[in-house]
Amino acid sequence: MHKTTLSFYGGVGSVTGANFLLAGEQTRLLVDCGLIQGERFAHEANREPFAYDPVSIDYLLVTHAHIDHIGRIPKLVKDGFIGKIFSTPQTLELSRLMLPDAFSVLRSELPHGEMPMYDEQDIEKAFSLWKGVPLHQTFSAGEFEVVMKDSGHILGSVMFVITRQGQGSTLNREKGRTLADTKQKRSIVFTGDLGNAPTPLLNEAETVAGATYLVLESVYGDRNHEGEERRKERLAEVIRANAKRGGVLLIPCFSLEKTQVLLYEMDDLLAKGQIPKIPVFLDSPLAIKVTDVYRRYAESFNEEARARLRKGDDIFSFPSLRITMDSKASSEIVHAQSPKIIIAGSGMSAGGRILDHEQRFLGDPKNTILFIGYQAVGSLGRQIQEGVKKVRINHEDIHIRARVETITGYSSHMDSEHLLEFSARAVESGALKKVFVVMGEPRSALFLAQRIRDYAGVDANVPELGESVEIEL
Ligand SMILES: [Zn+2]
Repeated sequence: MHKTTLSFYGGVGSVTGANFLLAGEQTRLLVDCGLIQGERFAHEANREPFAYDPVSIDYLLVTHAHIDHIGRIPKLVKDGFIGKIFSTPQTLELSRLMLPDAFSVLRSELPHGEMPMYDEQDIEKAFSLWKGVPLHQTFSAGEFEVVMKDSGHILGSVMFVITRQGQGSTLNREKGRTLADTKQKRSIVFTGDLGNAPTPLLNEAETVAGATYLVLESVYGDRNHEGEERRKERLAEVIRANAKRGGVLLIPCFSLEKTQVLLYEMDDLLAKGQIPKIPVFLDSPLAIKVTDVYRRYAESFNEEARARLRKGDDIFSFPSLRITMDSKASSEIVHAQSPKIIIAGSGMSAGGRILDHEQRFLGDPKNTILFIGYQAVGSLGRQIQEGVKKVRINHEDIHIRARVETITGYSSHMDSEHLLEFSARAVESGALKKVFVVMGEPRSALFLAQRIRDYAGVDANVPELGESVEIEL
């Protein structure tokens, strides 16, 4: 038996900062190297040295381009990593937008005189090591063999199925089976973030029958979302009610995935006459660039979205949509007549143009703020969402009188019920030995682990930060 160790260096007891190390006898492989986030965009802890020597790492596999999965890659490079980075081509392209954007936010948050934890050259160097590999194509990573499966979370997002090189063929020879029969292989699956099916744009997460170990996300391990019909109906209701009051509807929105989903839904609601044609401002240069990447990879969308595209519909645009690239245009939004809708980042109000709009508009009871995405504990977004009456924005105390609405159905994460179902399906093949529940707040992860033990009947636990376990791969 080969010795294989799995270590949890980030994304445990917390949603952000994903960072896992799989060490074989000669190969050391990381899955994700994300930014730790909280009250601020970047948590202090990001500055601490990695728990391992980055020089010793041979490969980095990237599940998707959200900053809590890629944000420390340039630091890894700065600290000596010279291995290879693999992801889908979509993740590679999106990361080219997300990392420089994150760097500018990082710099803006730095206390006076403090140096950033990496610089632009480290970002560039990371891309010189980075290679895009298509979904479902098997590739080698030292003593391991890797294949990516669709995780349905954002454009280009994947799970990694990792086996030991040659293991399958030996078994196949022994049992006289074809190479295609991979069920006998011992494997570990890193789910990354799993999509909340059915998502408006993307395909459902694939199943992972036959996995021996599962490293499973649990962002919503203790909660369920409202269904797909209800979420669209609720979105239309919030937009109509706000328009009726003549108010400003603020939607703090992640530039990646959430914004595209929102535009797609609004485009459809407008076409069906279910919402009024009021001005919608997309005040996020990053979201605009990300939307262009989405347009280029339309073949990754689900059947419904592709059918709408085939009919000639520009699914991310409509006549009342105004996009504002520069900050001058952004200030014009303020003077535009209400009712109006403003979509801006960041999604958790941890920076970005949404802050100026919140400062200006949250004090008026005619206005509404709508949350459609995850709000991390401690973030300004989470405080507003939970009903705090006074917040501090841009050095000013703001008394919140605007309505506060949340629609959970647009979450891009699988909810508790579906995570359990996903695990149960992995159990069906009989090979699953253990589930490591990660990437959730403690309550959420512990709740899900308990449910998996009780209902799916398989060993499940929540690892501690820095914990290492021996696995049989
Ligand atoms: Zn994500």
